[in-house]
Amino acid sequence: MTTRKLIGTNQEFTIGKIVCLARNYAEHAKELGNETPAAPILFMKPASSVIGDGEAVHIPAYSQECHYEVELAVLIGKQCRGVSAEKAMENVAGYGTAIDMTLRDVQSQLKAKGLPWEIAKGFDTSCPLSDFVPADVVVDPHALNLKLAVNGDGRQDGNSSDMIHRVPQIVAYISAIFTLEPGDVILTGTPAGVGPVRAGDVMTAEIVSVGRLTIPVT
Ligand code: ZN
Repeated sequence: MTTRKLIGTNQEFTIGKIVCLARNYAEHAKELGNETPAAPILFMKPASSVIGDGEAVHIPAYSQECHYEVELAVLIGKQCRGVSAEKAMENVAGYGTAIDMTLRDVQSQLKAKGLPWEIAKGFDTSCPLSDFVPADVVVDPHALNLKLAVNGDGRQDGNSSDMIHRVPQIVAYISAIFTLEPGDVILTGTPAGVGPVRAGDVMTAEIVSVGRLTIPVT
């Protein structure tokens, strides 16, 4: 079981399912040659993919191209199903920083064949995840600067204001399909600037006032 703290409270959540959005920033969709979707594109990572600050990403032997994607993580605090966008935020407990590690070569092969992405997205160590800050501490989840550096070189520098689908709509959309439970996490997509890491690299991901991760790659 993997748990995460809600910083500044005594609350701790056991991480459940991790529902992720693909192509939720137009510039990133463009850099991978994808169309911008009308509805959110969803995939999942298992809770077993989560690692914490300072732990290492292990690139599986079946990939030669492992990419970082810094993302705003949304922590669900209450069970909800079929919630409206207007009421969705009542179910959000906090925000954190995540890296959606992606085996781009494997994903591209799967996409070309129309096959599911799990082995490219859900492998062990594919989800570095910080603790969470309480939702009421974050004035506006759509005004956050997301940054990722590799060995100190800036690679991603985006803002959550550029999200296509916003947090209330995302929670509403997902909760109509999957009951959301306390400890479930939503990864809201990555801004442009994704790229590869290799064994020996160290990634630093930061969303100011939300969370920071330092993650080596092996
Ligand atoms: Zn992603």
